[in-house]
Amino acid sequence: MALNVQAVRGMNDLLPEDTSIWQQVETVLRQTLSSFGYSEVRMPVVEHTNLFCRAIGEVTDVVEKEMYTFEDRSGDMLSLRPEGTAGCVRCALEHNLIYNQEQRLWYMGPMFRHERPQKGRYRQFHQTGVEVFGLKGPDIDAELIIMTYELWKRFGIQDQVKLQLNSLGSAQERAAYRESLVKFLEAHFDELDEDSKRRTHTNPLRVLDTKDEKVGELLKSAPKLADHFGAETKEHFAKLRALLDAEGIAYEINPRLVRGLDYYNLTVFEWVTDALGAQGTVCGGGRYDGLVEQLGGTPTCAVGFGLGMERLILLLQTLGKITPKSSVDVYVLGSGDDIELHEAKTASFLRKALPGVRIMTHCGGGNFKRQFKRADKTGARAAVILGNDEIARGSVTIKDLRNKDSAQSEYALCDAPEALRKILEI
Ligand code: ATP
Ligand code: MG
Repeated sequence: MALNVQAVRGMNDLLPEDTSIWQQVETVLRQTLSSFGYSEVRMPVVEHTNLFCRAIGEVTDVVEKEMYTFEDRSGDMLSLRPEGTAGCVRCALEHNLIYNQEQRLWYMGPMFRHERPQKGRYRQFHQTGVEVFGLKGPDIDAELIIMTYELWKRFGIQDQVKLQLNSLGSAQERAAYRESLVKFLEAHFDELDEDSKRRTHTNPLRVLDTKDEKVGELLKSAPKLADHFGAETKEHFAKLRALLDAEGIAYEINPRLVRGLDYYNLTVFEWVTDALGAQGTVCGGGRYDGLVEQLGGTPTCAVGFGLGMERLILLLQTLGKITPKSSVDVYVLGSGDDIELHEAKTASFLRKALPGVRIMTHCGGGNFKRQFKRADKTGARAAVILGNDEIARGSVTIKDLRNKDSAQSEYALCDAPEALRKILEI
């Protein structure tokens, strides 16, 4: 009987072809992050709901509409994490990681948001996040951007993603700006779309982020946040820009870049691509100097980013920068007396002699034609073939499966690893 249960909408299975790509991407990410000296942390997927309400802000889309929240059996209100920063700050505070010391941390894992699923937008998606605590200068903001740029270079997509940059100023500068922006929006209230009307009094800066063209046009004459900046904000931004210029990293200043969550100040940035349609933001981040205190810690400056793994992988696939890898290098097959036993022994010997080489043993018998078909299907480079003659002589026959013209040859078992190394080019 068919099982009529399907995966939850917007939550995807990753099949062997997918995981082969994900693993390659994860490896590059891990290597890059650790090459900058960052350490991994792993937080739970579930946190107390009020952590997100306090961190992200009650009137953001994420908290208002997108969280998976439930009461557990002990009556606690819990949520699946919609992002990683809040949990990372909670973790750092709980374990005293940031009191009087700096930390450069990263994590990788699933996040959950109840959004309308579409290409590049899912209900379970994955982020690689980086959070730095205790460093307040523009040098660390620049480091995070340089680190992401290094990632794009390693993936060969540095020309396909563009950096958008903005400064949100200090909390005080934002508050002053907020007042003049609300005045402006109230004066043009009839010209606003529904979303912008709602946000005018709940989260007016988000109006700057509108997708509505008419409102976008109107905003051209709105007061500018940058006009409220004091000397410190200006200097921070100027130094950051100088550091990026020195690295040859191009950027566009986007005064309307405000980002979806409430906690940012000073530097905000996004890496955006044209190749993925509407879901073009691959990575976004910024400074959030107020959040640690807001969550009960001593004031600690902080900066971080979140990188959307599905979008990065979609981009790499769209641009043909990544292909699935086979999971087998060598396929051991054969026919003869007690063949299963000899295959298993031969495979064990080879695994020991060739660490890191992926060696699959044929199971289930069948004639040679069938066995070679299976070997081909695995994508293996080489076949190790056993028969009664080989067993009697303590040898194996080796065939290069990707080079059909090359003859197969027999080797003493002790010479087989060397022969395989040649075929595998290792
Ligand atoms: P968007 O504007 O696309 O909704 P966001 O501002 O909500 O993004 P962040 O909270 O900054 O996104 O998350 C960081 C990154 O995580 C995004 O830049 C994007 O690459 C990815 N991301 C966010 N939401 C989703 C989702 N629902 N599905 C897949 N990836 C997502
Ligand atoms: Mg969003």
